[in-house]
Amino acid sequence: MIPQETIDLIMDTVRIDDVVGDFVSLKRRGASFVACCPFHNEKTPSFYVTPSKGIYKCFGCGKAGNAVSFVMEHEHCSYVEAIRYLADKYHIEIVEEQESAEQIVQRQRHESLMLVMDFAQKFYSGNLSSGEGRSVGHAYYRSRGLEDATIAEYGLGWAPSSRTALHDAAIAAGFKEEYLLEAGLCLQYDDGTVVDRFRERVTFPIHSVNGKTIAFSCRTLKTGDIAKYVNSPDTPLYDKSRCLYGIALAKSEIARQERCYLAEGNVDVVTLHQTGVRNVVASCGTALTVQQVRLIKKFTENVTVMYDGDAAGIHAAQKAINLILGEGMNVSLLLFPDGDDPDSYCRKHTLEELQAFISGHEMDFVSYLYEVGKDRLHDPVKRSGLINEVADAIACIPDAVRRSVFVDTAAAKLGISSEALFERIIRTRARAAEEQRKAEIREQRYRDNIPDYIPQQQDSADFYPAPEQQLQAPAIENKTLQQAEKDLLYFLVTHGRDTLDFESDSEYYSGSEEDKTDVAQFIRDALESDGSVMANSLYRNAYDEYFRHYDALCSQDEIVRKMMSCPDRAVADLTAELSIEKYRLTVRNFASSMTATSSWLVAFVPKSIIYYNERRIQYAIDTLRSKLGDASDQTAVMQKIVKLQAAHRRIKEKLGRDKTI
Ligand SMILES: [Zn+2]
Repeated sequence: MIPQETIDLIMDTVRIDDVVGDFVSLKRRGASFVACCPFHNEKTPSFYVTPSKGIYKCFGCGKAGNAVSFVMEHEHCSYVEAIRYLADKYHIEIVEEQESAEQIVQRQRHESLMLVMDFAQKFYSGNLSSGEGRSVGHAYYRSRGLEDATIAEYGLGWAPSSRTALHDAAIAAGFKEEYLLEAGLCLQYDDGTVVDRFRERVTFPIHSVNGKTIAFSCRTLKTGDIAKYVNSPDTPLYDKSRCLYGIALAKSEIARQERCYLAEGNVDVVTLHQTGVRNVVASCGTALTVQQVRLIKKFTENVTVMYDGDAAGIHAAQKAINLILGEGMNVSLLLFPDGDDPDSYCRKHTLEELQAFISGHEMDFVSYLYEVGKDRLHDPVKRSGLINEVADAIACIPDAVRRSVFVDTAAAKLGISSEALFERIIRTRARAAEEQRKAEIREQRYRDNIPDYIPQQQDSADFYPAPEQQLQAPAIENKTLQQAEKDLLYFLVTHGRDTLDFESDSEYYSGSEEDKTDVAQFIRDALESDGSVMANSLYRNAYDEYFRHYDALCSQDEIVRKMMSCPDRAVADLTAELSIEKYRLTVRNFASSMTATSSWLVAFVPKSIIYYNERRIQYAIDTLRSKLGDASDQTAVMQKIVKLQAAHRRIKEKLGRDKTI
């Protein structure tokens, strides 16, 4: 837990232009700065940073928020990680509260493992400058066409042939042997001897999403009876099924380009990056897993698979297609010309040629499966095998409409009827559903039998981006009331502490100067007089958050600032949206009104309350109507509806008279 005072101190210290400026080059324009948006592709700048308000806003894609939300969005990290990043940037110490002794031990152990991995990465990299590291390791990277800048960017290195080179250097630097073993850098034989796991190999560090070294993938340069790659085992830092090689360097570009290229090998990733294609990752020495696909999905829904065109590559691509489609994402594929993989192709061609090749040869999965399998079409037995492969891929798509689109394409390509394909798809889906049901039962049994089952390690938050729900727009539970509730929040966030100066002939006139109410109090009185709360949880949370600070006597500016740094990301985003945009009120003509703010507040705040009440009655009527069918006493329900309808008419008339809605 980070104490609130520390968060407040951080929020008081950060300068939005300073934080954004670390990632984007800003140009001053008046009181603001402008830049090309880092979150979407654009040629003319529509991304504005306003230091006086501490906020940014893109008028192209609509992204907006404060320094914390910028770091979260740009680095794809959680709220806590963003706060830690900012604390680090401004040298503000975070003193954790309520950390148990056990948590402290665990955190320190964790930090020690991170440190020893970092040491190993620097040790391996350092070896490239002299001795066998230079003559063998560096020479290898050079032979693959890699420049020194690229080698440094990816932290590539050389593990020496000596049995204990890393071990001895780490011990001399003060690291404990147990951490070398736990991090998977060293091995212990039965007789107790400890040796380096990686020897005489080029080293590719594997990074977490946040760019920390958590494992290594190491390739031998020898030929013969020896494993080509040796990778780190799973450790407390590293779960290979959840990591993607290159993700830290690629993630922002993946989000910006709205596409992820998925290559087979580490070298493909590095070479493509050096050529200028930066939104590329590879699965870490394993067949692609569903967790890896979900990791990609945090940044984009579009994946282009560029595996080798040999039998193994095609087989791996087929599995990847099914996994990606199964997550509801879009997949396209690329086949490189005979004998080429992305690495060899890049070394023979320029970026422009590569881009032209990609845009000219990218194909959907049906075309790909057809392309790599069309030789089988003439053989009756093999033909049905191909048809089933296509049908089974389509069966993975969760959405029925999208499935039927691909069925039509596939039927035309394969020269068979849609019905035949559908039949196979239905059977495959039924079997998959049955298997999933069984798996869920097994899982349930497993949980029931292990009393202290822990769903997820607490510290995994350090390695993976924010939980998915933080990246998704919050659901609106009640559409009927959505706009009316949002309008009221608009008034709270923009004018909550403004006084409502009703004329003496107004029905809301309080009678004396001292009793004048402000906008927030007026709205709260109106809602609480009949005990109503907002129906949509997002708005209810924002409402509560507003009044929490309001009741703590914060100024309007302070309240908004605190709401924008609220740990509930949805509330923070909503606050930013309401306070930055020229929000379009349901009460429409306010933007064109030339009157002073105080005058239109007096008119439109009460009107928004009336509108809110009108919507609530409408909702009550809708709810009763939907129950009418199975109500035991239909007459009573009908009577209630008639009463509500009368009230509804009156309130509509009141709204209509002013012709402002
Ligand atoms: Zn944008």
